Amino acid sequence: MARLHNKVALITGAASNPGLGRSIALAFAKEGAKLVITDIDAKGLETTLADVKALGADAIALSQNVTSEQGWIDTIATVESKYGQLDILVNNAGIAILRNIDEMTMDEYNRQMDINMSSVFIGCREAIKAMRKTGGGSIVNMSSVAGLVGMPRTGAYGVSKAGVRILSKTVALENARHNIRCNSVHPGMIMTNIQEDAKRDNPEHFDILVDSLPMSRMGTPEEVASCVLFLASDESSYVSGTELVVDGCLVA
Ligand code: NAD
Repeated sequence: MARLHNKVALITGAASNPGLGRSIALAFAKEGAKLVITDIDAKGLETTLADVKALGADAIALSQNVTSEQGWIDTIATVESKYGQLDILVNNAGIAILRNIDEMTMDEYNRQMDINMSSVFIGCREAIKAMRKTGGGSIVNMSSVAGLVGMPRTGAYGVSKAGVRILSKTVALENARHNIRCNSVHPGMIMTNIQEDAKRDNPEHFDILVDSLPMSRMGTPEEVASCVLFLASDESSYVSGTELVVDGCLVA
């Protein structure tokens, strides 16, 4: 049987191509999930929707800015009215503004906190309410290796991702008796649009970083998606409150 048969999954930040959210949506579609994919990028989202439907998935796309509290309430209400339940939430949407701290404005700092961390807080809170009604679920929050160790140019980004890690553990502990699991995923350098932006920002620094990777290559979005799939599925039923590092040995 498909690994996500009859599961309803909400994935944020699913528009970007190549992007982690899109790859997760495709992986979930192949495993029989019913999908609600969201993003602020309506055009990219339509492409992902067409591609998951081409795989036979029952899916809808919703425009959502993850920083909006009301947007989260409306999104989860739509999931419940369309599918009657929410089994899986993947908080994937995020941005990276990579600068040294002495070059970063408060606007850039606050945007990363809002999009990468506060959104995950609201998303978890609203998903928990829905999951408790139907007997449980699995939440997967996208963090980063920058949320585990200090790295130059990741000051605000790293802080936001470290917050996601601790938030995930708190959600897991508070909801273990409600059959809701919560884990964080910590990718290293994965070839998506976010890395294209980083490369444009500072090509010299980017090439040095890729050269220095232990496996001498970046990871693929599919290599992260398969790990998210494991945490979302019942195969990880006794895994909660932990972090899965997907970094090709970068911070070993
Ligand atoms: P990406 O830029 O390709 O995709 C991010 C998606 O988030 C985009 O579709 C974008 O439109 C969406 N988004 C941004 N702001 C939003 C908002 N306010 N509301 C709703 N959607 C919004 O990036 P990616 O590499 O696919 O990253 C996905 C996640 O993985 C992010 O949380 C990122 O921090 C994390 N991550 C990525 C890497 C990497 O190397 N690619 C490494 C570690 C962690």
